[in-house]
Order: sequence, then structure tokens, then C-alpha cells
Amino acid sequence: MLKLDQHPSGRHFLQIPGPSPVPDRVLRAISLPTIDHRGPEFGQLGLKVISGLQQVFRTRHPVAIYPASGTGAWEAALVNVLSPGDTVLMVETGHFATLWQKMALRLGLKPEFISLPGTCAETGLPVAWRHGVNAEQVAERLRADTGHQIRAVCVVHNETSTGATSDIAAVRRAIDDAKHPALLMVDSISGLASADYRHDDWGVDVTISGSQKGLMLPPGISFNALSPKALEVSKTAKLPRAFWAWDEIVEMNRTGYWPYTPSTNLLYGLHEALDMLLAQGLEPVLARHQRWAAAVRGAVQAWGLPIQCADPAVYSPVLTGVVTPLGVDADAIRQLIHQRFDLSLGTGLGKIKGRMFRIGHLGDCNDLTLMATLSGVEMGLKLAGVKLAGSGVMAAMEHFSAHPAA
Ligand SMILES: *Cc1c(COP(=O)(O)O)cnc(C)c1O
Repeated sequence: MLKLDQHPSGRHFLQIPGPSPVPDRVLRAISLPTIDHRGPEFGQLGLKVISGLQQVFRTRHPVAIYPASGTGAWEAALVNVLSPGDTVLMVETGHFATLWQKMALRLGLKPEFISLPGTCAETGLPVAWRHGVNAEQVAERLRADTGHQIRAVCVVHNETSTGATSDIAAVRRAIDDAKHPALLMVDSISGLASADYRHDDWGVDVTISGSQKGLMLPPGISFNALSPKALEVSKTAKLPRAFWAWDEIVEMNRTGYWPYTPSTNLLYGLHEALDMLLAQGLEPVLARHQRWAAAVRGAVQAWGLPIQCADPAVYSPVLTGVVTPLGVDADAIRQLIHQRFDLSLGTGLGKIKGRMFRIGHLGDCNDLTLMATLSGVEMGLKLAGVKLAGSGVMAAMEHFSAHPAA
């Protein structure tokens, strides 16, 4: 709850997996005076942020920027390349995959939603919500689609509701091995700039991303990275689109301008954030998230609580889902921690609401931010009466001491 009538001292700990903590440098850049979006300087800003984004997406092709949340960029991706009634293959990896599938339904598409069957014996949680995409399951469905009814395969790269990533290169191979012409569309809203991502190398046709996760910006702008094939398909796709249409945006972006008023001040912030990320280099940025994730997982394991992602090969570097014991309301623990320690943790979403909470380790964090976070969580778990096997805080301190940043 926003404490409008009181100001707690010190910084609030925003350890949810998006919006992530925004660096002061970025906030200061956003506070600069708004300029004429058709004036002479604007084009330079536009060209710089687009070229910086291309480096982060690892693409040579156009990246469209929308003044919208990530959900808008999901819609943009679907309406630019699909036609009414088209079948799309989507994979249930968690809450965000489910929301995207619901959007496809509302847009008049026919999403086929495949998932891993069953519930997990230890926790009672759905198996599909503890794993990434099973590329073999995708391959099998595509091989059976001999008439090529499926127009696109849509997957989530970093499922923010569970903390499981998916192997996008393996999904690409599944499409290629089946010699299937479907487009590959990937939501990397929370993966970009925190988890390894390669738009061109992995043969992705449309990548959807957003500002408020790994890019360390406030919410409000989102992206579509395109492939030449996606641009070609968009010329004949028939879903209605106007605001989201790529053609005019891509055309005007050649000189760094937009067909409408872009989010000027958020673009200042994007410029600053790209400067920070690219000056450090993407590899160290990715390594930093892996290191934080390993320390947080070490803490959860020391507590003796299950991690939401059940497959160590696809643990997310961006967030860790913590499963609470049966009968213990994860949201009550989150609320207690927020009240007592001014620390925000991510709530369980959809099918796993109340059964788990999420610790975000992305954005403007460092080792001690995460130590403070883990202290807050450990105190909260104890206050809520959860029996812990050991101290996660001690385990994380040991991890950080033994693994200095490269
Ligand atoms: C945050 C997020 C979204 C939704 O983005 P909004 O900005 O809330 O519209 C979609 N997918 C994933 C994987 C996300 O993490």
C-alpha cells in the first residue's frame, strides 16, 4: 500500500520481478526538459536508442518502440503478422503465457495451448508451471500439422510468474526440423538485458519486450524486434491494426522519428540505461544476474523450501519463486514483510496464487541489496511460523564471499 501520509526512512526495497529498481542516473535523465519530437535534436536521440536496442536484442533488423506496457507490444506482435481465425501454437509455462493466449483468443485467433500434464506430488503445483517449454512437444505438434495450419509458435522466454526460462534455440530447431513455415514469436519482456537473448542467431521472427524489467526503466514503453520474414508476412496479414502497424513506424524510424508523439522522457531514460548496459558490456550484465540468482537460490535451499522452477537447467537469472509449505499463505507472508520491513516481493499469480512468492534479482541491485532482501524474507518467514531448515542469509553471505564479481 502506498504510504501517502508517512515517509519511511531509507529506501524502499522493490524486489519484485518488474518494475525493477531504477538507477538514479536513469531517473535524472528522465527529469530533463521535454523537447520537440519533430525538432532537429530528436532524430539523433531516436537513432541512438534504436541502435542501442539492436545491440541488446542482438539484431541487425528494425526494433519498434511503443508508448505502451508490455501487453501492448504483445498485441502489436500478433496483429501485425496474423489474420482472423489463424491457428497459433502457444505453450503454457505459467501466468504470462496464459495471458498472451487469452489475448490471442480475444483478437479472434485460434490459440492451441499445449502444456506438460500433471501436478507435482511434493507440492501439488501444476508441472507445466515448474518447467520451461518442452521443445520436443512443440516438434511433435508441428510434425502432425502436415497442412501447415499453424501460423506462429508463441513462447515466453523468461516466465516471470514461475522463474523458469525456455530454450528458444531448441524451439527454433523444433520448427526447422519439422520443416514448418510457422513464425517464431517470443516474449522476452523480462528476459531481455538480464538473461542471454539472441534475436538473430536464434531465428526469432518477433521478440516482444518491455522497459520495466532488465532495462531498468520505469514502465511505459515496450518493443517489437522484427525479422525480415516477419516484415514480409505483415504486408499480407489481415488482422486490423493502425496504432500498432509496423510499416509507418519502421519507415519514420529510419530518420529517428515516429508517426506520433513518442514517450520523450522515457526515451531519455532508455538512452541512459543503454549507455550503462553497453558500457559495462552485455556479458558482465548477464553474469551479474546469474551470480545474484545463484546466491538467492542458495538461500532458498538453505531454508529447505522448494524453488518454483523444478528444472535446474532452466533456472531464471532474473527471479526466484519460493514455494511456501502447504497451508501457509504466501501472500500473508509477503504482506507481513512489506509492513515490517518496507520490502516488496512478487505475489504468486494465477494457478499458483497463495502458494509461492517471487524474489526479483534484476535492475539496480547489488550484493548488499540482495542480502538485505534475504534478511527481510528470512525474518518474515520466521515471524509467520514457517519452520526453516537453516539460514538462507548465512548461505547467501558465504556465496557472495566465495564468488567475487568478475
Ligand atoms: C511483465 C511481463 C508482461 C506484461 O507486461 P506489462 O508491462 O505488465 O503489460 C508480459 N510477459 C512477461 C513475461 C512479463 O514479465
